[in-house]
Amino acid sequence: MALFGPPGVGKGTQAARLRDAEGVAHISTGDALRKAVAEGTETGLKAKSYMDRGELVPDEVVIAIAKESLQREGKNGFILDGFPRTVAQAEALDKVLDEIGAPLQVVVNLQAPEDELVRRLSGRRLCSKCGAGYHVESMPSAVEGKCDACGAETVQREDDKPEAIRNRLQVYEAKTAPVIDYYAHKSILRNVDASGPVDEVLRKIESALKSIGD
Ligand code: ADP
Ligand code: AMP
Repeated sequence: MALFGPPGVGKGTQAARLRDAEGVAHISTGDALRKAVAEGTETGLKAKSYMDRGELVPDEVVIAIAKESLQREGKNGFILDGFPRTVAQAEALDKVLDEIGAPLQVVVNLQAPEDELVRRLSGRRLCSKCGAGYHVESMPSAVEGKCDACGAETVQREDDKPEAIRNRLQVYEAKTAPVIDYYAHKSILRNVDASGPVDEVLRKIESALKSIGD
């Protein structure tokens, strides 16, 4: 399955819960790119300036990452988070999934009002070591600035600062929202209201997943 939706709507948060509940792989191109940046790989060097500005990383770079992750970890089920983000990526994904014989069965489109997205993005904090996600108001760590899981420092992403947030929301509308139609035409799109608390959204996603094939 794929979790779709604008920046900050809760894709990573819900993907982590679904991964734990269902034992499938969580494939996040954003996480993979941040790892590449931290490790200073060639891909990371190419991607960093796009990411810091809130622009999309070029399709060929991201498609290669997603393809490699799917081939390596996707055999027993997967949750895509933050991929595809353009129609070209959606087409490339179909090809890869055909090759591994695991066509996409459902795309869950998470939706929340823009002021809630801005609130979630501006308060987001990530563990600098293990990547666990927090929010200063809705999901604070037990000790401010420290990760509950590993004790390392929590930090704000460069692209969660106001100017990059504004740009990411515009890029989403211009380049990513058209992917919704791509999946609506295939009748595998399920819209889910993601404006409520995390557990409530999880229940709504699970009931949308049960409706596959209806
Ligand atoms: P995305 O992966 O879609 O960009 P995240 O899962 O990282 O979004 O969530 C963005 C921020 O909002 C994080 O700080 C997260 O803790 C918080 N968050 C996620 N879901 C909810 C929710 N249902 N209610 C309140 N805050 C949430
Ligand atoms: P995310 O963690 O999903 O919010 O992604 C963070 C940033 O990584 C995005 O703003 C883009 O710069 C880049 N990125 C992640 N996934 C993709 C993708 N599928 N296509 C293009 N850029 C991506």
